[in-house]
Amino acid sequence: MSDEISVKDEGFDHALTREILATLAGAGFALYGICRAQETSHRAHFTQWLAEVGCGEMTYLTQHIEQRMNPQEFVPTARSIICVADRYASGKPDPIHHNVSPRGRIARYARGRDYHLVIRERLEPIADDLRKRFPGHRFRVCVDTAPILEREHAQRAGLGRVGKHTLLIGEQSVGSWIVLGEIVTSLNLAPSEPVAGDPCATCTRCIDACPTQAIEPWKLHPERCISYLTIEHRSAPAKWFENRTDDWLFGCDACVEACPHSQPSQRSARVKPNANYEARHSDFDLADVLQWTESSQAALKLSKALLRAKLSMWKRNALLIVSGTSPQSWSTQLVDALGRLQADATEDVWLREKSEQLLRLHSQSKI
Ligand code: SF4
Ligand code: SF4
Repeated sequence: MSDEISVKDEGFDHALTREILATLAGAGFALYGICRAQETSHRAHFTQWLAEVGCGEMTYLTQHIEQRMNPQEFVPTARSIICVADRYASGKPDPIHHNVSPRGRIARYARGRDYHLVIRERLEPIADDLRKRFPGHRFRVCVDTAPILEREHAQRAGLGRVGKHTLLIGEQSVGSWIVLGEIVTSLNLAPSEPVAGDPCATCTRCIDACPTQAIEPWKLHPERCISYLTIEHRSAPAKWFENRTDDWLFGCDACVEACPHSQPSQRSARVKPNANYEARHSDFDLADVLQWTESSQAALKLSKALLRAKLSMWKRNALLIVSGTSPQSWSTQLVDALGRLQADATEDVWLREKSEQLLRLHSQSKI
């Protein structure tokens, strides 16, 4: 974050810039800044990544490419992007323990209220106020779903630097426990100073910690990533993931947990996580998940973020975790749940076949 204003003046509205930055601070954003709405400097890198690595079932990444590459294709009169970040976790060790029965963890960004809502409900009133005062101007609020390169804009706006794990490492020592939002606007605001330098140097901790070898320096392989698999991948999982998903039921924090920049510190303690992200659901008993129905799941009142995974995906994710554990450790409740899933003709074929295979393993383990 930086309140500094760029020295190279292009007729920026400095007074309005200062006022907006103060408003963002007052709205409780952990990090905030402004960048020019300019074309990406990573077009070749992005195109090559898409061609070489692919985006799995996230086919939306192949759409609206020109808008993604240039915010002026997204909002034709755009001149500035107001960038914000909320901090959702302190980085302290995860308090979840698995000493009773197999449970699956939720990535920390998704444990509390949905960040799309939490950020949008503070950015929209700011945009509305600006719309009233500057009726000839454009204001588009974006939180994750718009075709713009959020991390690059946030980096240029001084919010942080992108690490080898491809996530933004926030300033103020908040690490990567952050979620991003933007207002793309035609106002001519003064850009903040980007943060210079490579945050990683010789470190490889995130690469070493990734359970599925999904990270090369500054290059993510989505089709190997547990976050992608558990949230975005709608169909049967690749064999690749068998016995590799640890206890991650929805998302994965392993690379962020490993990063030295994401560890709690005296400095980062000054930037408190936003209370909206306090955990409502941190983990689930896997036997319960395997028995969820549409109505029993609805009763849990999961956030919109958690509902991105459909019911059969939750069960698939649970089975992948179970397959990585010893059958001798399975509770009677879990074995019963596998039996019911295998016998239910209304369930997805992959779920039934995987349950049958696991039940066979359980029977053999008792011989
Ligand atoms: S989220 Fe998990 S699986 Fe994906 S890159 Fe990070 S550590 Fe690897
Ligand atoms: S763990 Fe190390 S290599 Fe990975 S992003 Fe953090 S500093 Fe960079």
